[in-house]
Amino acid sequence: MKIAFVDLKRQYKRYKKEIDRAIKNVIRDSAFVGGHYLECFEKNFADYIGRKFCVGVGNGTDAIFLTLLSLGIGKGDEVIVPSHTFVATVEAVSATGAEPVFVDIYEDHYTMSVEKIKTQITDRTKAIIPVHLYGQPCDMDQICIIAKENNIHIIEDCAQAHGALYKGRKTGTFGVAGCFSFFPGKNLGAYGDAGCVVCDDEALFKKIKAIKDHGRSDKYTSLYIGYNSRLDGLQAAILDVKLKYIDRWNDKRRKIAQWYSKLLQNTDVILPVEFKDVKHIYHLYVIRIKKNREKFMSFLKEAGISCGIHYPIPCHMFQPYKNKRGADSLPVTEKITKEIASLPIFPELTQKEVIYITNKIKEYLKRN
Ligand SMILES: *Cc1c(COP(=O)(O)O)cnc(C)c1O
Repeated sequence: MKIAFVDLKRQYKRYKKEIDRAIKNVIRDSAFVGGHYLECFEKNFADYIGRKFCVGVGNGTDAIFLTLLSLGIGKGDEVIVPSHTFVATVEAVSATGAEPVFVDIYEDHYTMSVEKIKTQITDRTKAIIPVHLYGQPCDMDQICIIAKENNIHIIEDCAQAHGALYKGRKTGTFGVAGCFSFFPGKNLGAYGDAGCVVCDDEALFKKIKAIKDHGRSDKYTSLYIGYNSRLDGLQAAILDVKLKYIDRWNDKRRKIAQWYSKLLQNTDVILPVEFKDVKHIYHLYVIRIKKNREKFMSFLKEAGISCGIHYPIPCHMFQPYKNKRGADSLPVTEKITKEIASLPIFPELTQKEVIYITNKIKEYLKRN
């Protein structure tokens, strides 16, 4: 049996009619940049998350970068980030001229450790970027308390957490802004690059909206030094179709995660753990193999199963970031990085396939 890590073709096949129609309409109306389809999606996504405003941008990295810029964060400022994340989180900080400061994670949940955040706050700290990694919300109550006490912004990296809940509340509603990516493989994915920022502050919304479009307040007036990072009409129309199904897809991912966890219980692999009172939406299903991960991965590959590692090298080990503050004290990040493996997960994965994968894993464990 051959099992892809993420098979996007299955989803397209199932929703082809609706998506093809949406694409056709955008082309018919020439609504390529800005326009009706973008506005519809922005409104629907803001409503879905439960925030007043949504501004579409070119990708998830720019969502973070443009938010930081719009908050006036740059040279001389510090922003607290995990190292155990996709590099975009860290890169967006550096792109503003501010300094990323690394903190370690919880060994069981893989999200930022609240205690570690406390030790890294200085009078230069302007923001914290909690990353709801793998689809599991960070410990937002505690992070909100720290941010409030120290008067610093929270900018949520929700690239892996569209529709995840923390105590019944969606991720993206806790910080001054929530930043989303709609990269094709995310839980809500476009057919190319796309992203957005959600917030409640109208001034911030207007500033991001201007900066992503050449700093313009109207067609011929640039108020700010801007960029060109827009969510295009085709992507917006596709996302608007897919938004209707996101909760159904997230629930299916949770079901698949349950199958995996049930079938792998009482084995030697470490399974994902959920915080109490959260809805983890399993963008990734990540297990840990205590030794010989590479051998484990090649065994599964031989069996036709594609796995991933998210992420094999933590950000603080990359050349541009290795001298940043905090990079010398990330023992949990460095430990788990050598053990993690992501199993295939996407809403259309079948129970039969999950059984095949877990049987292969058990076969490997018995032999090793
Ligand atoms: C995907 C991702 C991003 C970046 O999104 P792009 O749309 O690829 O720019 C940022 N942070 C995390 C955690 C991600 O997974």
